[in-house]
Amino acid sequence: MKFSLSFILAVSLAGLQFLVIGIVLSTSYLSSEKAMLHHARDLLEKAGANASEHTSGFLKPASESAELAKRVFESGIIDKDDFEQLEAFLFQVLQNQSQISGIYYGDEAGNFTYVMRDDGAGPFRSKFIRAQDDLPGADFSWRKADYSIVETATDPADTFDPRGRPWYKTVKEQRSTIWTDPYIFFSSRQPGTTVAVPVEVDGVLSGVVGVDIEISEISSFLSQLDLSENASALILDEGGKVVAHPNMAEIIDTETGAPLRLREIGEIGDPISQAAFARLGAAEVLQIGEETQSEFEYEKDKYVSLLKPLSSIGLPWTIAVFAPETDFTQVIKDNRTRNLWIAAIISCIAALVGFALAELILRPVRVFAVRTALVSQGEVPDTEALPATYRELEKANETLIDQIAQRRQADARIIDLNRDLSHFSRVNLMGQMATGLAHELSQPLTAISQNVDAAISTARQDENPNEDLLNILNELDDQAHRGGDILSALRGFIRKDQGQMAPFDVNELVKQTESLLLHEAFVQGVTLRFEVDQMPQVVGNRIQIAQVLTNLVRNALEAISSADSPKKEISVTAERMQNQIEIWVKDTGPGIAPDVTLFKQFETSKKDGMGLGLSISRTLAEANGGRLWCDTSSTHGASFCLSLPI
Ligand code: ADP
Repeated sequence: MKFSLSFILAVSLAGLQFLVIGIVLSTSYLSSEKAMLHHARDLLEKAGANASEHTSGFLKPASESAELAKRVFESGIIDKDDFEQLEAFLFQVLQNQSQISGIYYGDEAGNFTYVMRDDGAGPFRSKFIRAQDDLPGADFSWRKADYSIVETATDPADTFDPRGRPWYKTVKEQRSTIWTDPYIFFSSRQPGTTVAVPVEVDGVLSGVVGVDIEISEISSFLSQLDLSENASALILDEGGKVVAHPNMAEIIDTETGAPLRLREIGEIGDPISQAAFARLGAAEVLQIGEETQSEFEYEKDKYVSLLKPLSSIGLPWTIAVFAPETDFTQVIKDNRTRNLWIAAIISCIAALVGFALAELILRPVRVFAVRTALVSQGEVPDTEALPATYRELEKANETLIDQIAQRRQADARIIDLNRDLSHFSRVNLMGQMATGLAHELSQPLTAISQNVDAAISTARQDENPNEDLLNILNELDDQAHRGGDILSALRGFIRKDQGQMAPFDVNELVKQTESLLLHEAFVQGVTLRFEVDQMPQVVGNRIQIAQVLTNLVRNALEAISSADSPKKEISVTAERMQNQIEIWVKDTGPGIAPDVTLFKQFETSKKDGMGLGLSISRTLAEANGGRLWCDTSSTHGASFCLSLPI
């Protein structure tokens, strides 16, 4: 299928436009996507650092309070064994630090003093286990903020012993500050953790100070983390328990009958958070050596994530902050789609403009093409003014008109040559026949004349010669001589008719002969090969030479056609040989029949032949100072050569 130039131009223009815009869009999309993801990681890092600082800052008062109590006890500023002093001190610390929910001290003797916030009889409640007492159980007192007692109580069944608690045991063993695993505080039913520090006097453990702090505030902080639309964060302890989650309800297991407990990561109903930690596998203890940036996939959505240990205050917790990539890249994705649509619309407009433009550009070209066709068909004179067109086409027009003109002077010359040839061939044929006749008639005429002479002298030898007879014989003799004179005049006339001798261009003549015979050869399915080197000019009668060449090529054509040769080819070559040129006509026909004597008048193998062509041609070649012969050594087809002097 062929398309119009306008269509191709329009489609190319639109395609090119779309390609260029597409490439620009894609590269800008890729680079902006990269920049956005980079930016996302920066934001994650900042959010991670922020959450980490907030968590540490939130828990710090607990560890500071524990440290303060330790120093105060170890230095003896407060007598830790005096229950009243101890309670008053712990009460003060609790009042000063609003985040902490309780503070206590247990010692090696099994004594325990615990001051905590409460929503019972008073806002503060104290619990005492006095190991030295003979009375078993615990004493309780509720106080107001001004330290005045509201109510007291005793629980004889309370057999609490601090030395058996895990926090006490661990501190005693490690002799350093520890954070307990987070758990649900019994009284407030809120998640919390405990920091416990050893109290030592002279290197010997006296007791352990513990501070309780609720951690639900960390969850509400995480829920307010403003990183991106769908970003989230959560904190896990080293055992995989969820310490803080934007949705607090997720982290406490409230199964009826069972004690409240914190859920593990695998138990919460938040698959995306689980996917964020999935990379860490099912290890029982999460160990994040250092801050790690990573990616994960959930339901074909890609997420960027950051895992960060909260080790600044010795907490074995890990925070994960994550957000779907689309939170950062959706805008540019939407932008890209919109831009692609814009590009498509621009390309369509470009196609329409391109089409219109192409039509505008092509109109003068079309007018020019029509005019050229009309000029070449001769329907419009080439002198007629060229319609308004382009400079390039004006030049093409000049060349074209020039070519047309040249082809017409060339066509005219070939027509002239053809006309001259047929005229000349008729004249020559007549001449040759006349020569033959003259040759044939001269002998009987001579015999008549001689016999008449003999008859006259015989008649004169008579005494009374018969004058009438003599007159008749003389008349006969005169007529015989007259006939002889006419013949010799005819001979002389033919011999003298050498035509017009002038220098001429052999190459041009050969080319014209080729043009003349091309159609005949084409009709007969014969290929003509004319290979002529640049030849010098020769002096002669160009019509006669053309006649010889035409005769030779026509003979070759007839020979090939009559024998229906499988290979149908005639080659005409010309070479320069010292002081003459040789024009060879070779064919792929059957060759010369053995019973034919070439160059002899009336010798022909053709039914309608006259056997004059070759003899006329040889006469003409010789009349021009050249020669014509047949190369008998040729084994394939026939091979004739015409030589002409330079
Ligand atoms: P005509 O063509 O009238 O027969 P020519 O003098 O041109 O007279 O040719 C004489 C004969 O020479 C032809 O009849 C043919 O037998 C033979 N002849 C000439 N040219 C060729 C050729 N190219 N191949 C074979 N035979 C040829």
